[in-house]
This record gives sequence, C-alpha cells and structure tokens, in this order.
Amino acid sequence: MIPAAFTYHRPTSVKEAVGLLAQFGEEGRALAGGHSLIPMMKLRLAAPEHLVDLAGVSELKGIRTDGGDIVIGAMTTQHELIASELLSAKIPLLRETSLVIADPQVRYVGTLGGNVANGDPGNDMPAVMLCLGATYHVTGKGGQRRIGAREFYRGAYSTALEPGEILTAIRIPVPATGHGYAYQKLKRKIGDYATAAAAVVLTLKGGGEVASCSIGLTNVAATPLWAKEAADILVGSRLDAATVQRAVAAAEAITSPASDTRGPARYRTKMAGVMLARALARAKERARA
Ligand SMILES: Cc1cc2nc3c(=O)[nH]c(=O)nc-3n(C[C@H](O)[C@H](O)[C@H](O)COP(=O)(O)OP(=O)(O)OC[C@H]3O[C@@H](n4cnc5c(N)ncnc54)[C@H](O)[C@@H]3O)c2cc1C
Repeated sequence: MIPAAFTYHRPTSVKEAVGLLAQFGEEGRALAGGHSLIPMMKLRLAAPEHLVDLAGVSELKGIRTDGGDIVIGAMTTQHELIASELLSAKIPLLRETSLVIADPQVRYVGTLGGNVANGDPGNDMPAVMLCLGATYHVTGKGGQRRIGAREFYRGAYSTALEPGEILTAIRIPVPATGHGYAYQKLKRKIGDYATAAAAVVLTLKGGGEVASCSIGLTNVAATPLWAKEAADILVGSRLDAATVQRAVAAAEAITSPASDTRGPARYRTKMAGVMLARALARAKERARA
C-alpha cells in the first residue's frame, strides 16, 4: 500500500515539464490530480522513478472560448467543470458527466486532462469526448500536435500519447444551440465506475426529425466507443421505438466488455443498450428544434 520510492519534480511551465519528461523517458510520469495514478502506484501497478507534477503549470488551467470551440486546460479539475457557467450554457453534457464521476473529494482534485489521458476504459470523460468530437492538444520535445479524441484510444491504458508528451488542452466544438444531450450511467453505488454508460448529443429539425446524432459508450470495451453506425440509423427518424431499438442493437454489437465484479459481459452489453435508450429519450426531451 506504500508506493515505491520516486523523485518529485514541480515544473512551472509546459516547456520545463516536457524537458523533464524527455530527460526521464520511460522512468518519468506526469502527475495531475493523482486520483488514478497514486492508487496504481500504491498497488505497485505503476512504479515511476520520477513524478513530474503539473500542478504548478498555470498555463494548463482554465476554460476559454476560441471561435466556435471551447478550449479547456488539461489541469482543469472536474469540480471546475461543474462550476463553469460557460460550460453549463454551451456544453451542459460536461457538467452532467462530471457530476456522476466519483464523489466531490475526487472531483476537487481529479482533472479533465488526467481523466482523458489515463486510458482507463472506466473513465467517463473519454466517451463524452468521442461523442462531442473533441481534439486533444499535445506537446512533446518535438513540438505540438493535435489528435482527435476518436483516434486517441488504442487499448486499455494505451493511447496515442508518445513517451514524454503531455496533454495540454482539450478543444471541443460547441454543439448547435438547442441541441439535446444526456449522459446516462449505471453504477453499483455513488463513486463507482460505470457498469455501462452512454453519452448522446443530437439536434432536431423543425418537424422533429433527428438532424444529427453522436453517441459515445463507456466501459464496455478496452477503449471508449464511438457508436457511429448506431447514430447514423437515428438520423432522419423521430426517435420512434422501432428505430431506437435498431440503433440500440447496432451499439450493443460493437461492445466487448469483460465479465467482472460489475456483471457478466452479456449483462454489461445489455446495460449499454439500456443506458443508450435512456440517454436518447432524455436528449430528445431537452432538444429544441
Ligand atoms: C474513489 C475513486 C472513484 C473514482 N470514480 C471515477 C468515476 O466514476 N469515473 C471516472 O471517470 N473516474 C473516476 N475516478 C478517477 C478520477 O476521475 C481521476 O481523477 C482521473 O481518472 C484521473 O485524473 P487525475 O487528474 O487524478 O490524473 P492522475 O491520476 O494524476 O493521472 C492519471 C494518468 O494520466 C496521466 N496524465 C495526467 N495528466 C496528464 C497530462 N496532462 N498529460 C499527459 N498525461 C497525463 C498520468 O501520467 C497518469 O498516467 C475515481 C477515482 C477514485 C479515487
């Protein structure tokens, strides 16, 4: 329960942080809120020799608009997402999702960047980022690059981040005014990771038909899932029961959850479908044509 020994570093700029991580290579690790990494270190599932704490890097904080996008610094906490009036007005899905992550104590220090960079399929924000079409800003010794969230996740704890790179910000295109949204999560108790969860963003035409739809699924595969085929089935429909059922079946078909303490694989697949149907109904209620 006590982590292996490590050396602690506290840079004050992205340049310094990236320099340290480049110097330490595989032996260095970025530290954000520590609420995934420190438990892993205590279990000795991770034993970095150097921890590069990003808490002193002020340029990694904050939420701002940039044209039609909102840009959120990687070190912005989940609590700050909940408190942001800008996000509540423009991308309320982020507040809804943050409120079902862990508990207030975790959310005060757990960061958005840590949640999406971690690569744990149980994290809630990655599927939401796939649903929203987010882009991740990354900086390494070789410079800066941008990676679409939909191309970022490779496997459990495996992402497109190269050793020594840090995630600096998350860029999200603001969904259309009047969009409907929902994040529905089944968990065994408050503070638990999802048995299955679904994120939905949709827009409706004047006649009530779906004009656009995007769906993300949490914790039902080794990576978060973007359920494009399921969403495409719904476009043009009025979300009638038969079409929703077809979309749910298409979403269930791309899941491959593990059987674990949250239930057997078949149950978790079915719960992904139930969460999706609920998220679609809630998003429809909220959408304004
Ligand atoms: C009791 C408990 C319950 C929880 N329940 C949930 C839950 O229901 N849903 C959920 O989504 N999460 C849950 N979490 C996890 C929590 O949200 C974490 O805070 C989050 O997963 C990681 O964010 P962090 O800032 O703590 O990152 P850290 O733990 O510091 O880092 C996590 C990983 O990401 C890397 N990393 C962090 N920031 C960066 C960066 N900017 N660039 C590159 N790499 C980076 C680290 O090197 C590390 O590998 C729970 C945690 C606890 C302790």
